Amino acid sequence: EQSGRSRSEIVAERKSILLPNLSISYAEPIKFVRGEGAWLIDDRGRAYLDCFNNVCHLGHAHPDVVEALRKQAGILNTNTRYLHDNIVDYAERLTATLPSDLCVATLACSGSEANSLMLRMMRAHTGREEAIVLDWAYHGTTQELIDLSPYKYKRKGGKGRKSHVYEATIPDTYRAPADWPADKIAQRYAESVAEQIAVMRRAGKGPGVFLAESIPSVAGQVFLPEGYLREVYAMVRAAGGICAADEVQVGFGRVGSHWWAFETQGVVPDIVTMGKPIGNGHPMAAVVTTREVAASFNNGMEYFNTFGGNPVSCAVGLAVLDVIGRDDLRGNALSIGNYLLERFRAMQARYEVIGDVRGQGLFLGIELVTDRKTKQPATEIARTINNGARERGVLMGTEGPHDNVLKLRPPMIFSRANADLLIEVMEETFAAVMAEV
Ligand code: PMP
Repeated sequence: EQSGRSRSEIVAERKSILLPNLSISYAEPIKFVRGEGAWLIDDRGRAYLDCFNNVCHLGHAHPDVVEALRKQAGILNTNTRYLHDNIVDYAERLTATLPSDLCVATLACSGSEANSLMLRMMRAHTGREEAIVLDWAYHGTTQELIDLSPYKYKRKGGKGRKSHVYEATIPDTYRAPADWPADKIAQRYAESVAEQIAVMRRAGKGPGVFLAESIPSVAGQVFLPEGYLREVYAMVRAAGGICAADEVQVGFGRVGSHWWAFETQGVVPDIVTMGKPIGNGHPMAAVVTTREVAASFNNGMEYFNTFGGNPVSCAVGLAVLDVIGRDDLRGNALSIGNYLLERFRAMQARYEVIGDVRGQGLFLGIELVTDRKTKQPATEIARTINNGARERGVLMGTEGPHDNVLKLRPPMIFSRANADLLIEVMEETFAAVMAEV
């Protein structure tokens, strides 16, 4: 299947003809030529088990999605100023997966666009710009979203926190202070949001929005303590703000038990943004909100989006929803996810370096530490494990402020056999890497 440019030629060309800082995975990048189900096949004919790529929700090149796209692209694609059934059908089907208050949808083309639109809605509804975000969050690539992304503005090249942005502590149960009682962790972390609201109040301001991923992913696959969002949403709403859930990574049934990760916290946001898996690789995103917020946004200025909600994208989105339901992929995510958790916990009993194993459905994290007591991050070991798994044909990632959390987001079709292969490779890689340190 070798064709086209070599890997090093592509890297060199990317550096000169594309932005030189365009991100690349792995120190020795891979050139993929084909995808099928949970597999990616490289230019040398080697197949890799894809446990990372959050986009191919139903697996790569899913035949139903490809057929829906091919069929509609062969009939009509045009902008949303003309009437078409697909956009309305899709909005009906999408909102049916959400709590009944979230009943107005808008279609977009990327997670960033969805979050930017959410900010416009926030400004229209509250008249405010102030936003509370969680530390180490990432919400998108435009300037206004980089400004809301500590993961970017705090790191090399970043310009620091702007004055309309307020940071709350990452509600990380594993790293909670040892003297906090287990049943008070949610409340203690929520106090960090209360403090930010107090800071605003002293300056005569109030929150426009509290924006958080329902499972902070870039912060290291952090599962919110039970009751956290309930506390925080109540505080923010009492201070006149709205609450937005970024479900770009964690939505669309990935947690298995529910369609949306915020549901696991028993709350209903005012705005939900979604992207990545919605089109199984086709660029598609959405914002769903309440009638009240939609009414505020309807302020006399027309809204138009050339590509968002076009007939082809909506045909693709409908096919994705069909397959999730028909093949009970949420059920699969839950049972395979639980199986993986059980197997990883068995590994944790044998490897001191595994400080924490956490997950819901097919959204999983394995936190590595050099010492279980001090929880010193094992950044270098995580990197070596990630590279070792890649050498053995499994793709995953590392994440978190210290890059010491192995991140796994396999496709929703991940089978028991795929899971067993992943475990086998993890066992081999841990055995090899830990024999060296
Ligand atoms: N929100 C979250 C949580 C994300 O992970 C991302 C992308 N990594 C975005 C928003 C932005 O999405 P996109 O890259 O599609 O613009």
